[in-house]
Amino acid sequence: MIRIVRPRLPTELEASLLALSQEMADTPVPERDKHTDRMWERKTVRRDVYQPVREALEDMAPGIDCCMYCGNHMADTVDHFVPKSRCAVRTFYWPNLLLACSTCNTRFKGNKHRSDGLVGSLLIDPTREDPFEHLDLGLASGVYRSVEGSPKGKWTIEVCGLNEGKRPRVRAEAWLNLADDLQGWARARDAGDVRNMRRKIYRMRTQPFADVGYAALRKAVSDEAPQVFAAEEPGVLALLQDDELRAAFQM
Ligand SMILES: [Zn+2]
Repeated sequence: MIRIVRPRLPTELEASLLALSQEMADTPVPERDKHTDRMWERKTVRRDVYQPVREALEDMAPGIDCCMYCGNHMADTVDHFVPKSRCAVRTFYWPNLLLACSTCNTRFKGNKHRSDGLVGSLLIDPTREDPFEHLDLGLASGVYRSVEGSPKGKWTIEVCGLNEGKRPRVRAEAWLNLADDLQGWARARDAGDVRNMRRKIYRMRTQPFADVGYAALRKAVSDEAPQVFAAEEPGVLALLQDDELRAAFQM
C-alpha cells in the first residue's frame, strides 16, 4: 500500500459532487440509502460524475489502473472508503473515493469495513496517512505484517486480503524486478544515459505491486538496513540509499 496524494478536482466536477452530496443530506433518512444507490447508478451521474471521478483517481494512482489498497493493476471500480451503506451522505464526497480492484472492493472489503465512528476508521486510508506507519512488508517474502501495536495494520491486512492468494508471490517477484532495475539504473547513470535512467525509474514506480519499492526505500534508511538487505545482491542497499535515486523515485 502506497501513500497517495489527493489533488483538488476541477471546479465544475467539485461543484457537481457538492450538489449531489447536498441532495443526499436533504433526503430524509428512511429513504436515503435507496436514493443513494439509485443516484450512484443513474445514467447521467455515471457519465458526468462517475467517469470523470474515475479518471481523476486513475491519474492519482501510482501506476496504470493501480488499486490503491493492494497495488495490483486491475483497479476497475470507484470504491467508497466509508461504504455508502454506512454513510450515504459520503457517497459523492471526493475525499471518500478511492480506486480499487474488485477483489479488494467487493470480495475482501465489502461490508467488513469496521469503524469506531466516522473519524477513527480502523482501515488505513492511503490518501490520508502513510501506510508504512502501520504496515511492514517483507521484501523477499512479499508478506505484509502489522507494525507492532498497530490495530490499523492488522485490520487493513485482513480487510483488503493483502496476504491472500498469490499476492505475496507477485510482490516477491516485483522485488526481484526492482532489484534488477536498480542495477540497470546505476549502469545507465555510469554511461550518462539519462533517458534510460528515467525509464528505469518509471518502471520501478509504476510496475504492479510497486509498494515493494516504497517499502525498500524506507527500510534502506532504517537501523535494520544491514540485516534486511544482507542476502541481497551487493550494491542494492547503497543504491536505495543514493540521494539521486531516492529523489527521482519519490518525486
Ligand atoms: Zn486491490
